[in-house]
Amino acid sequence: MIDVLVSGAAGRMGREVVKALTEADGIRAVAAVDPGHADRTIDDGHGGELLCRGDLSAALAGARPHVMVDFTHPNAVEGNLRAALAAGVHCVVGTTGLSVDVLQGLAAGAPEGVCLFVAPNFAIGAVLMMRFAAEAARFMPHVEIIELHHDRKADAPSGTALRTAALVAAARNEVPGAPGRETELAEGARGALVDQVSVHSIRLPGLVAHQEVIFGGKGQTLSIRHDSIDRSSFMPGVVLAVREVVSRSGLIIGLENLMEA
Ligand code: NAD
Repeated sequence: MIDVLVSGAAGRMGREVVKALTEADGIRAVAAVDPGHADRTIDDGHGGELLCRGDLSAALAGARPHVMVDFTHPNAVEGNLRAALAAGVHCVVGTTGLSVDVLQGLAAGAPEGVCLFVAPNFAIGAVLMMRFAAEAARFMPHVEIIELHHDRKADAPSGTALRTAALVAAARNEVPGAPGRETELAEGARGALVDQVSVHSIRLPGLVAHQEVIFGGKGQTLSIRHDSIDRSSFMPGVVLAVREVVSRSGLIIGLENLMEA
């Protein structure tokens, strides 16, 4: 049995994670932490409840989990990871906003044999979208990214867009210019430049998590689009990561590194 502490358990993702872990064979949610919901309960979706704690260190010491899953806030995640890794707890991280440098520092300071796994996107379809985009960029270097999320998302661009831009930049053989930037009539009209790829962020109620990668070539365009229309789309990836981290160590970034295990 893999015992898991869910950090950010009262959030939109955290609540789904508690339910998905409760449903999964060989895994159980043993602790829930969320300062915004301290001393209240979280429904596990299967007739049970989990008491939510406000203090992560106390919950780590009390529940002694094998794994912590973190879906919190860009401002909170680094401190949470520092505490969990120091306690020898493997980490599965969905919270976005952490730089690779910070992640490498956290992993370097972790005890031997502990795994820090981070995925900018846990949806299998989104991982495939990024893979297909990297493949297309080899042949069609003119590319822009439009990412669309719900209006409560804390950061922009999304972690998925940043990762896609990095993959596309690494895959393409030439860096075409981004026409129109020099004559922007309103600041930001041409989006943010990430690894020399223009990224446009849309925030609207009604959206969950969506991304379109558009390639342009002579007389043609190619669009690769992924839509998470429900947060359940992320759960198979989270469950897979929980199963995998207990037998791995060090820093791993991206669900693609676990999918063919
Ligand atoms: P949310 O605001 O609904 O939930 C975040 C929760 O974290 C809140 O309940 C808040 O009280 C809690 N929290 C804040 N500080 C905390 C702390 N120090 N310790 C524990 N809990 C704390 O947000 P959400 O929509 O659930 O998203 C959470 C994060 O996950 C965001 O960074 C989002 O971008 C990311 N996300 C990632 C994926 C992915 O596939 N990687 C998918 C969806 C969302």
